[in-house]
Amino acid sequence: MRRINLDTFRIARRGTSREINRQIALNLVRAKQPISRADLARLMGLRRGAVSLLVNELLRTGLVFEGAKGESKRGRKPMHLHIETRRRFALAVDMSASRTLILPTDLLGHPLLEVAEFPTGQHPETLVKQLVLAIGRIRRAHPDLGECVGLGMVVSGIVDLESGCLKYSPTLGWRDVDLVEPLKAATKLPVVIENSVKACVLAQVWALGGDIPGDGPVAFVNVSDGVGVGIAVDGKLLRGVRNIAGEFGHVPLNMYGPRCSCGGNGCWEAYVSKRATIARYLGLDPSWPGSAAPQPTTVPEIIARARAGEGRAVDTLRETGYYLGRGLATIVKAIDPRRVYLGGEITEGWDLIESAVRDALRDQALIGEAGELEIRTVPLGEHPRLRGAAALVSTPAFAAPIVA
Ligand SMILES: [Zn+2]
Repeated sequence: MRRINLDTFRIARRGTSREINRQIALNLVRAKQPISRADLARLMGLRRGAVSLLVNELLRTGLVFEGAKGESKRGRKPMHLHIETRRRFALAVDMSASRTLILPTDLLGHPLLEVAEFPTGQHPETLVKQLVLAIGRIRRAHPDLGECVGLGMVVSGIVDLESGCLKYSPTLGWRDVDLVEPLKAATKLPVVIENSVKACVLAQVWALGGDIPGDGPVAFVNVSDGVGVGIAVDGKLLRGVRNIAGEFGHVPLNMYGPRCSCGGNGCWEAYVSKRATIARYLGLDPSWPGSAAPQPTTVPEIIARARAGEGRAVDTLRETGYYLGRGLATIVKAIDPRRVYLGGEITEGWDLIESAVRDALRDQALIGEAGELEIRTVPLGEHPRLRGAAALVSTPAFAAPIVA
């Protein structure tokens, strides 16, 4: 049941039911392509004529094309509907404090080239210049990419919901930086900027094929320098009123625990971030800011040592796993997700920590099923942040219409 908001309602007009059915048809084409008009009519439970009206509208928008790209039978080439991914592309940009990555994708989020990267400039103006140069290089080298429909960029930090301004990025040390307008002006493209973990969860729930989650809340937990959580419900991001919902990384596991980067004590992040794991392994105080100093080892190295049988590494990772599970149990209690995606270096050692994660989840479960939460690891090599950036550009065209 959804309440009708009497300040922002949208009235149903003559074309409203057609608009809804057109978006259903568009999403069926996206999910089932190549698909014939007859199959589309069958799936929608509509007459062929009614579906043809919808399809003709979709063909006019250019989002869909009809062709004999599918399997052909002898004597007659069947015409199938496809999402138009030819000669148009999106630019996915992942900006972190150290590096900026760029990847052109098609409108379904599939990569079209190798990832390009450069060291992130330390000032916003430098970064905009670097991006414009890099985009220019890509377009000159690959004119066959065609028309660029937009630039989606993910950042670690808090993004203003209205303006798209980067309100605060602790790792970059930037506050109230507007990248949207300078990038729009310099590239002449539509630009969307989003928090990286929010974009990551969006990419997972809007993914095509394979094993995509059903309706309900879904979370993406990224364990890296910090711990970020993105939540989507039925494909829509959960933002809260101030766009800061889902900050589980800063929910304390222990109010007397180690100092956290946010100024609090004992946050989940202070127990499971890369620096917390490394500090525990080295026998150092995991408190901020001491733990942020460069250390002589990395999480992948600790994982390698655990695989080689080093007891200290095995214990350290199991402890991280247990703390990870404690925090996941908080997420279960707060939003009861259908599935949690887990990203970050720690995923490389998932087989070493999974039982400890499960132990913590079961210890904290209010009902038995809560301990059996579905967890999917997303390897770094899948570039979840770039996929998220691509989703910012490619998914809005497929959204359900808002009515009432
Ligand atoms: Zn914190």
